[in-house]
Amino acid sequence: MVTMPKIFSGEPSPVHPSLQPSLFKIYGALLVFFMVLGGWLAFDLQKGYVKVLADQSYRAMQRSQIIGQSFRTQVLATDYVLRDLLGRIQPQDIVYPDYDRNHAQRMTQLLKEKSDTVPDFFLVVFNKDCVFTATESGDHTGASSKPALCEARKAHAGPGPLVSYVSGAKSASGSSVLMLSRNFTSPTGDFQGGVMAVMELEKAQHWFDSLNLESGDSIALLDDAQILLARRPLLEKSMEEKATDLSIPGPLISTAAQSAALTRLDLDGSERIFGFSQIEGFPFFVAFGFDKSGVIEEWQHRAVELTTGFCILLLLALAVARSQWTMLHQREELRSSEEHFRMLAENMADLVWCTDAQMQFTYVNAADQRVRGFAREEVVGTHIMDNLTPQGKDIFATILQERRELELSSHHGLVLKYELPMNLKNGGEVWIEMTSVPIYDSHGRISGYQGVGRDVSKRRQHETNLLQSKQQLEEQLLEAAEETSALHELATHDALTGLYNRRFLDATLPREFARAKRDGDRLAVIMLDLDHFKLVNDNFSHAAGDKVLVTLADLMKAGARESDLICRYGGEEFAVIMPGMSVDQALERVESWRRQLEEMLVVYGDFKISITLSAGVAVFPDQGDSPGLLLALADQMLYKSKKEGRNRISVCSL
Ligand code: GH3
Ligand code: MG
Ligand code: MG
Repeated sequence: MVTMPKIFSGEPSPVHPSLQPSLFKIYGALLVFFMVLGGWLAFDLQKGYVKVLADQSYRAMQRSQIIGQSFRTQVLATDYVLRDLLGRIQPQDIVYPDYDRNHAQRMTQLLKEKSDTVPDFFLVVFNKDCVFTATESGDHTGASSKPALCEARKAHAGPGPLVSYVSGAKSASGSSVLMLSRNFTSPTGDFQGGVMAVMELEKAQHWFDSLNLESGDSIALLDDAQILLARRPLLEKSMEEKATDLSIPGPLISTAAQSAALTRLDLDGSERIFGFSQIEGFPFFVAFGFDKSGVIEEWQHRAVELTTGFCILLLLALAVARSQWTMLHQREELRSSEEHFRMLAENMADLVWCTDAQMQFTYVNAADQRVRGFAREEVVGTHIMDNLTPQGKDIFATILQERRELELSSHHGLVLKYELPMNLKNGGEVWIEMTSVPIYDSHGRISGYQGVGRDVSKRRQHETNLLQSKQQLEEQLLEAAEETSALHELATHDALTGLYNRRFLDATLPREFARAKRDGDRLAVIMLDLDHFKLVNDNFSHAAGDKVLVTLADLMKAGARESDLICRYGGEEFAVIMPGMSVDQALERVESWRRQLEEMLVVYGDFKISITLSAGVAVFPDQGDSPGLLLALADQMLYKSKKEGRNRISVCSL
């Protein structure tokens, strides 16, 4: 189906105001919108990120505080036990070696009872030399703390207990411990020994293990020298080492702040949000860390969702903008192409036209006025038929019928070419060669026609002249051919009988002879003469004689083959050349002619003429090896037949 742009509307199409400036404004507004939206999104996400970290930092501090409080409660409970013991034990109870078994057992029993309230701690009484005088198990009496530790104990003066972490290298037991001790002092303030509660670090670790903890989070106990005392999850290699990576925030150490938060790499390499809390009154810190990746997971989801949504929106806007741009571009191209074609059409020497579906002209180019003389205004709006001569109307009706049949047989959009005479303004006619094609609307229905036309009057005149000249020439040629043919006939044929004449025989016999000789073929020559023919002329008239001659000629023609050459040799004498015939065959043929003639009566008017013939036969190669000799031999045989009484045939017997 051909759907063509309707570029010709009769008037020049208005120049479309360019839409591009306003489009640029829309694109600019869209760009600003997306920039603002993107900026707002980035700001919101950043704000969300900071808030998530801040919230989680706060929670981490809370958790570290709670755990620190819980630990502190245990230590305070232990300190309470130590103070209680100090109240119950007298200076004289601190003896070593204790020879009073009962006293020693009592001391052991006392410590054991108290130990039940603080099961994680091991209770010990020591003397001024830090020698263990009693223990809750009764074992290890006599052992002593290392001198440095003993000195530290002596030096401790505060109201609270001495609390410290003691590494395995420094402790009496050789195990790393957390230790609380309280001193006995004399009224004069002298150091007289004391009681202490010792918790092995392993037990502190067990206590950590009993706390609820999300996977990915971590919790650590550090002393004020940042030595890692307990940690969950356990990191063997870092235990009792200085945790430089997890350094306690400065403000917490240097000021009175209880808690602080930081985000940093943990000892296991994971990034965590830490809350640090000092255990009030004791040189220990709790560090609680939330796994950062787990914390920001929800925020990340939201960020991905928002970013994806933004990108989709941006892509959609880009796609719409692009299609809009392409559409405008195409429209612009179409408009300029229409202008281009309009200019071409207006300047063409040929007619260009458009009609509506009812075949009323909607456009004709300037060439129409040049060719036919009508102004454009006189033509546009008229029906095609109104512009045709009566003959043109008949032709056009046929074309319409053809177009209808084409459309019905689904041959849509075919170009039709035809010639028809149109009216001239001056009353004359002009022959136009039209090429037309239908235009279809979007439903496939014909909405009009368009085409081009060319003035072919001169060409048609030339063609007519040429045709006439051709006809004349053909007639002349025909006449000439007829004359030539007649002349040829005259030159080679006998006018009376239609047989070949002697001239033809003279020209042909040598050729036939040469052919027979070359092919090793036979060639029979017969000379034939009517008997007493002069009498026929004399008795019945010359015309009757002619009739006899024609009768004999027809008789011979009737029995002849294609290859036989029958010639009127002269007067009432005939020569026949028969290629490929033997003597017997030739004789049989001539005998047939002789008998037929003998038996027939030639009717001429009221006369019935009876006549005979005589003949002589000679055959190559049996007789005569030249055409002249062959002819002469046949003639001799004819003479022989005449001499022997006529109405007979003589065959050469050489
Ligand atoms: P023969 O048996 O010996 O042949 O006797 P003939 O009378 O046939 O022979 P002759 O040669 O004496 O006569 C031939 C005649 O044929 C003489 C001539 O007038 C006649 N003749 C020749 N040409 C024509 C012709 O075209 N038409 C007519 N009607 N007669 C012709
Ligand atoms: Mg004769
Ligand atoms: Mg004769």
